[in-house]
Amino acid sequence: MSSFLIAGNWKMNTGPKEAAELAAGIRDGLSGTPASTKVVVCPPFLSVAAAVRELSTAPVDIGVQNLHFEESGAFTGEVSTDMVKEAGCSYAILGHSERREYFGETDELVAKKVKKTIDAGLNAILCVGEKLEERKSGSHEMVVEKQFTAVANHLKESDLDRLTIAYEPVWAIGTGETATPTQAQEVHAFIRGLLKSAFPNADAKSVHILYGGSMKPANAQELLSQPDVDGGLIGGASLKAASFCELVEIAETVAA
Ligand code: PEP
Repeated sequence: MSSFLIAGNWKMNTGPKEAAELAAGIRDGLSGTPASTKVVVCPPFLSVAAAVRELSTAPVDIGVQNLHFEESGAFTGEVSTDMVKEAGCSYAILGHSERREYFGETDELVAKKVKKTIDAGLNAILCVGEKLEERKSGSHEMVVEKQFTAVANHLKESDLDRLTIAYEPVWAIGTGETATPTQAQEVHAFIRGLLKSAFPNADAKSVHILYGGSMKPANAQELLSQPDVDGGLIGGASLKAASFCELVEIAETVAA
């Protein structure tokens, strides 16, 4: 793996009109093709078409923030991998802490979604991360290991080509509180170790491990300079084209 991955999670923000404006701002703000950084944005479902349209000529991939593991049928309110692909997406964020917390997503459900996503030829961004009390009690590695293993048990080595992991300490998401670069590096190295033990014949270095949790232009350089931080999953700072494009530029500078 030679490049960073910078992914924007727009969450439940931007209807089609606003999403088109934000996507156009990102297209115009990425001056030329980023040399090495992979860029992904994940709008809400209803705004995917607008983002796909505006970014059709830009070096930016589009993703969704969730999907269902079944192909089709009586699953009111859900969206399948085929629909996501037909709409022009190539990524799916899965197991985000907000889905685990507010929508009751379990490790087993997340595992099914990741497996289906990869089998369908899409790229999965699997989110893992501990809550504040788990960090305080020192059980953060145990929590991350459990979340990771539940998914890894369902994957084979070749699936790693389509797997990205985002370490998102829940206490740092949308709070303005960021994990220190040392804290991030420790957990990223731990996750790299988990990948190595689960898939001994694969190249664990080839899997992007993103940091997520109040990453912004002011703290990105330090975080991205850590040896096992391969990019960022960005919430708040992805909602302004200028700050998102600046994050891509910082990634380019750190990679250079
Ligand atoms: C996220 O929701 O994935 C996230 C990292 O949000 P924020 O950057 O706002 O903390």
